[in-house]
Amino acid sequence: MCLIFGGRALDCNRPRNESSHKTPKNMKRKINLIVIHCSATPVDHDYTPDQMTRDHMARGFNSAGYHFYVRKSGYVVHLRPLETIGAHVEGFNANSVGICYEGGMTTDGKPADTRTVQQKESLLRLVNEFRGYYPGIKVLGHRDLSPDKDGDGVVEPNEWTKSCPCFDAKKEYKIK
Ligand SMILES: [Zn+2]
Repeated sequence: MCLIFGGRALDCNRPRNESSHKTPKNMKRKINLIVIHCSATPVDHDYTPDQMTRDHMARGFNSAGYHFYVRKSGYVVHLRPLETIGAHVEGFNANSVGICYEGGMTTDGKPADTRTVQQKESLLRLVNEFRGYYPGIKVLGHRDLSPDKDGDGVVEPNEWTKSCPCFDAKKEYKIK
């Protein structure tokens, strides 16, 4: 099932004929990176796409900064059109896609991989679908793009500006 480009409307909050579903062929923006995020909300909290959009707009964005949002149920919400540059990772927005899952914190607010089985499935489906359209596309977690403070070429855990997305996306989505 295609989630991204003209897929079933069921998986998406936009009609399939809307411009957000341009295929890579007729899209002007070059995409070569997927950045995975968490919403940094407690696992027992329902953080709706509307609330996220309001929060991001309060920070001065035009809309939610991510392209896709994966709810705890695994339901995928298409937020920002793919053609539009996201607002989710400093220095890497121009050519990337931002995918966020709901959660990333324990009930007492500590960073944790809170992904449900359904979220893991939906994230993997999205990643694989993008790989179909953009062979060789890189997949990283937000924290992997933190500044390399000691300049040794490797972003070490102590250099992570945040723990987002609270799991090792780079390792998990590595092409085996
Ligand atoms: Zn993030």
